[in-house]
Amino acid sequence: MTDKPSISPIKLTSHPGDHNPVRFPLRWGAASARERGPVVATLSTPTDRNAVGTHSGSYAVYRALAVAAGRLDPVHRPDLTDTSPTDLIGPHPQWGEPDRIVSIDPWGAGITEAFADDIRDGVDIRPTIAVTKARLQMPELERAVAAGRLKSCGVHLHGVGEASVTKAAVEPVWHLPGVAARFDIDESTLRRTLFEQTAGMFPELVTRGDLEVFLPPIGGMTVYIFGDPKTVADPQIPLTVRVHDECNGSDVFGSDICTCRPYLAHGIEECVRAAQEGGNGVIVYFRKEGRALGEVTKFLVYNARKRQAGGDRADQYFARTECVAGVQDARFQGLMPDVLHWLGIRRIDRLLSMSNMKYDSIVGSGIEVGERVSIPSDLVPADARVEIDAKLAAGYFNDGGVPDETELKKPKGRGLED
Ligand SMILES: [Zn+2]
Repeated sequence: MTDKPSISPIKLTSHPGDHNPVRFPLRWGAASARERGPVVATLSTPTDRNAVGTHSGSYAVYRALAVAAGRLDPVHRPDLTDTSPTDLIGPHPQWGEPDRIVSIDPWGAGITEAFADDIRDGVDIRPTIAVTKARLQMPELERAVAAGRLKSCGVHLHGVGEASVTKAAVEPVWHLPGVAARFDIDESTLRRTLFEQTAGMFPELVTRGDLEVFLPPIGGMTVYIFGDPKTVADPQIPLTVRVHDECNGSDVFGSDICTCRPYLAHGIEECVRAAQEGGNGVIVYFRKEGRALGEVTKFLVYNARKRQAGGDRADQYFARTECVAGVQDARFQGLMPDVLHWLGIRRIDRLLSMSNMKYDSIVGSGIEVGERVSIPSDLVPADARVEIDAKLAAGYFNDGGVPDETELKKPKGRGLED
């Protein structure tokens, strides 16, 4: 327990001009961590900062609560002893290719080594990526072993179906000029809109044009590597990939209105198989709940779908979302491939996804894709037929047939009282 923070004058960042040149200039896209420079988003030494926003994404707000409640020293520095990555990812050539990676810091896992001197001198530089090892226990993997589809090998899969993984947590770190270019908008429009649409949360977005990096208050992503992280980037070694956007209700709780957990579990099974066959598997789990519109919006849409005249049916699937949210989807897959480039990937042999937005974005970013694999239809829950039919009709990739108009008009989802 520390004392409550003492009352000190509030330093507003809403007026331009009153600042010195940054102590640690950044050269985004430089070929080494030292040349690029450290991202410094510390709150304890404001003069060292070279980024807008701060660490931990949306959890920064909880950290503020902990400080406000007197439970956290506002100038606490993390003790990073023994926290270094279990597996070295990169450096890969893509890390030094201009504009290839604009939404994460490729050097974010190795800061304790690259900037050891600065950290020793007291500069508060923090990792934005952490890499560790784990084992996954999922009933779907146990069922795959019981059914004979997978066998324990003692390396990638153990016992009744426990999978070895290397996993990396990645915080978003946006290079604003690069993000703007990715969306083909000008940087000032991006900065102004981010400022206005967060109710003015980060004035430096508009007052500090010299700060090019923004740590947004949003969720990041987690990478799960099955196989050998050292060979994921090797195009000669077969690679299976699923990029999965969070759906907490299905992924964690098994809610049956969509195909998210079945597809995720299928992806993990395919990744384990790839590793056992001498290749590698990668699952990237993005915190983009409800097409990045949030879970409240998502549940409102579920009700609207199930209460509409004619019942829950595929031909109204996207329209109902647009009625509530104003857009059908806010995931903007344009930034998604960054994490694949961080892994050094140049070729994906099997992409486990039906989404054309994901496929187009991956291929458009220069990664070659071999085969596309859709979800096996026996894994689609009955109530999720509406979603799958709507996606197929909208042109999502699939290796089976596409439902016709009469099929799309049929109510298929369960009613709210069932
Ligand atoms: Zn879902």
